[in-house]
Amino acid sequence: MRKSYRMDDVTVPVLQGIDVEIRPAYFTVLLGPSGSGKTTLLNLIGCLDRPDAGKVIVAGTDVNSLTDDELADFRAENIGFVFQSFNLIPVLTAFENVEYPLVLAGMEPERRQRRVKRLLDAVGLADRADNRPGQLSGGQRQRVAIARALARKPKLVIADEPTANLDSQTGAAIIALMRWMQQNFKISFIFSSHDSGLIKAADDLIVLRDGVIQSVRRKPDGPEAVPSAPVDDEVEPRWATDAAETDFSFLRDETRPMAR
Ligand code: ADP
Ligand code: MG
Repeated sequence: MRKSYRMDDVTVPVLQGIDVEIRPAYFTVLLGPSGSGKTTLLNLIGCLDRPDAGKVIVAGTDVNSLTDDELADFRAENIGFVFQSFNLIPVLTAFENVEYPLVLAGMEPERRQRRVKRLLDAVGLADRADNRPGQLSGGQRQRVAIARALARKPKLVIADEPTANLDSQTGAAIIALMRWMQQNFKISFIFSSHDSGLIKAADDLIVLRDGVIQSVRRKPDGPEAVPSAPVDDEVEPRWATDAAETDFSFLRDETRPMAR
């Protein structure tokens, strides 16, 4: 797969000959210095952009074969996004931000409110449901963004440098939360970073440099690679909130305001 950007008359090649598989239900870290092409690659995998040449296959679908409208629907149904700058809607509460994709999906109010409650609970923000983003710390905002990314039960969550605007302790809590979500819900997670300290968070590590893949390291004994069968849409997922099942202490510690 290849991707260039055109600037004035010049074509700048950014990704060159990328050929890589993201394993379903694994936690993949895409590591590379700034400018190496991480965002470009994630935008292609996330169907936010199209390659110049080559194929992008997501959940068995060759996304090149979809029209722009079909692609938008496919993306909404299958892919959740977490961004470096959180991208929450400032005038909506935490609850409404998480609810928003479900409103767009036309889910019936009672059901969607039930699901939003469970999601906020799962990210440790049940008591912050009525707060707007401006009233939340950076780490809390990112947790709202994670809950929102999971709202439509995507097959894949893409997080582009989700810890870049957080201090290291808060960032570590966010990674731990994403890891927990990935394992609990058997969702594929791809998370980009330029921080090599995050290598240990990965099942699979893809190192990108100057638009080419420098190395791929896959953990041999990762989680069982078998993704769970698609949940019957009428059956609500059981978000584990039981303290015996989940240790949320790492979230409670994270109460400091945004690093900047
Ligand atoms: P990373 O996320 O690893 O920092 P990016 O994918 O954002 O890298 O960028 C890779 C390269 O592509 C950089 O050299 C960047 O300047 C260039 N680039 C990114 N987006 C655009 C764009 N829209 N137009 C032109 N060049 C771009
Ligand atoms: Mg980037």
